[in-house]
Amino acid sequence: MAISEWPATTRGLNPVTFDDNFRRFLKRASPDFMARRIRQFEEFGDYVCTTFEDQADYSDRVHPPVLTHELTNPTQPRDRRGVVYLNDRYLQAQQELHRRGFLSPVFDLQNPEAHLLPFCTQYVLGDVSGGCPWAMTHPDAWAIARYASPAVKAQFLPELLRTDGQAKTGGTWGTEPASGTDLARTVTEVVRQDDGSLRAYGLKWFTSNAGSGVALATARLRGAGEGASGIGLYLIPSHIDEDWRIRNEYEVTHLKDKLGTRALATGEIHLQGALAYELVPPPHGMKAMMEILSCSRVHNALASAGVMRRALMEVLCWTHHRQPFGIPLIKQVPTKKRVINMTTEWLAGSALAFEAALSFDQGINGSEEDRIWMRLVTALAKFRTAEQAEWVTRMAKILHGAAGYVEDYPITRINRDAQVLSVWEGPEQVQAKELTRLIGGKVPGDAVFLTRLQQIVQTLPDDTMGYDKARLVLKLHDLEPALATLRERPQAADHVEDEFLDLMSHTLAYALLLKEASWELAHEHDMKKLLVARHYYERAFERKAAPDFRVTDLQSHFDTIAKGVPIEMPDIPANPGLTI
Ligand SMILES: Cc1cc2nc3c(=O)[nH]c(=O)nc-3n(C[C@H](O)[C@H](O)[C@H](O)COP(=O)(O)OP(=O)(O)OC[C@H]3O[C@@H](n4cnc5c(N)ncnc54)[C@H](O)[C@@H]3O)c2cc1C
Repeated sequence: MAISEWPATTRGLNPVTFDDNFRRFLKRASPDFMARRIRQFEEFGDYVCTTFEDQADYSDRVHPPVLTHELTNPTQPRDRRGVVYLNDRYLQAQQELHRRGFLSPVFDLQNPEAHLLPFCTQYVLGDVSGGCPWAMTHPDAWAIARYASPAVKAQFLPELLRTDGQAKTGGTWGTEPASGTDLARTVTEVVRQDDGSLRAYGLKWFTSNAGSGVALATARLRGAGEGASGIGLYLIPSHIDEDWRIRNEYEVTHLKDKLGTRALATGEIHLQGALAYELVPPPHGMKAMMEILSCSRVHNALASAGVMRRALMEVLCWTHHRQPFGIPLIKQVPTKKRVINMTTEWLAGSALAFEAALSFDQGINGSEEDRIWMRLVTALAKFRTAEQAEWVTRMAKILHGAAGYVEDYPITRINRDAQVLSVWEGPEQVQAKELTRLIGGKVPGDAVFLTRLQQIVQTLPDDTMGYDKARLVLKLHDLEPALATLRERPQAADHVEDEFLDLMSHTLAYALLLKEASWELAHEHDMKKLLVARHYYERAFERKAAPDFRVTDLQSHFDTIAKGVPIEMPDIPANPGLTI
């Protein structure tokens, strides 16, 4: 969007109309989806930058979740149970996502919408605390639709899909005191009763959206044995009667006192014989939980990209008005340089996140190769976008000066909340291990990665992007033997898998930026994305021996970029020196 007058704050600045890159992604990836949904997203954008944002601030600072200990039986005053209360504005914000129809169409049996819909919703929201329940409700609904018995599905799936303001939201309960990364050490137990029903006992140690109506939990079925093969996946509702009035036998014993995401209730939950329904029996429960997490990880990537967009919007508003030395910050070269770097990381991260969202629909409906690609992109995008979001929000804080460290400005909350993106849904090492697993798999992940990136290379035009194409080819050329070595020497993976994660995520981001750039040159006559891709290449791959005094192409076009208008391609291709 071309903005002539930057407002003092982002309140009222619609993130969808601001964000040409999102609109172009939809147009490029699925014009039909764009035609069906863009109006819905624009209207949602109006809500996000007003009512939702007011709620986010209120829920973070004024009325975060509260844990109370309620009497379970008035005649027994010592019998109490921990219950979480969320403020009404937070609850309403969650309902708004359902009410606006961002989830239910995906599960329409006649004409199902792509999972892209709830993923894009997460991106537009761009708020970690508000988006976390959504990142669990969507995969919960997907898992229930796939795995639950007809009776369990009929009982619970419609509850998650309601659009009447009464929808139940979801949780995923994996982590325990001794098992976060290592879910095979789960000790929560599910015991079959004489009447065939199941009861769960144990302690779930980090449960976000504590207070959800439905949770999917890993647990060990008594008698099923040790290790991962003894674990099943169970649905645990908050209430056990039809009217959702009688509480299930579990309680929130503690709310985590966290660095950020204060609006989000993250609890310790003690299961004291909670009624549970088997979704996936052992030995396949762990695998099913991993599938749920693969969906949440895509959400994490989109949340990271959305948070970067939000942080950049905050910076643009702030720097147009703040005037140290009597000059608006945005007109000062050091600021321009940082804004360009932030923009570059946001666009690269968005390219990764959008590809992860697209690959999800293809992966769950397509071939084995599509599935491997989905898992590769998810791991690479989860890792890289979280790193970027932490960096971009940190930079936004710095550009705000002292204002970036006080609660009067939203960037403080945004920066705090972003710190969790690299931790939950599997930290860096977990994504690196996933990469190693895929590379060593029956269908080698490295071959899928290289083939897909070669396919991107084939689509790049030689005349305008020959140099960029050659640089990508050289990167793939260097990676190929290294990946083959990793496949042959899995015992060495611990030493190098983080480096592969780093390198492959940069290479993928660069390739996706080039792919977008070639489309934007052809369809929008705009070379901004190409300049961004080149700048990203330099940031990702080029260690400078000494500071470079040249004004980069992106810097020379700063005013055009800040106005949000296209940059026309000159007749002579830039940097024609390198050929394949
Ligand atoms: C705010 C918040 C909310 C959360 N909400 C939920 C929730 O709703 N549901 C839920 O189930 N969990 C939740 N979590 C937990 C989160 O998913 C875990 O913290 C995360 O998966 C890591 O597990 P851990 O903390 O046990 O780390 P650990 O397993 O103790 O690992 C510590 C570090 O060692 C690394 N590591 C572990 N094993 C290896 C290995 N073999 N090789 C190399 N490195 C390794 C890890 O990557 C990590 O960096 C939440 C966490 C936070 C902070």
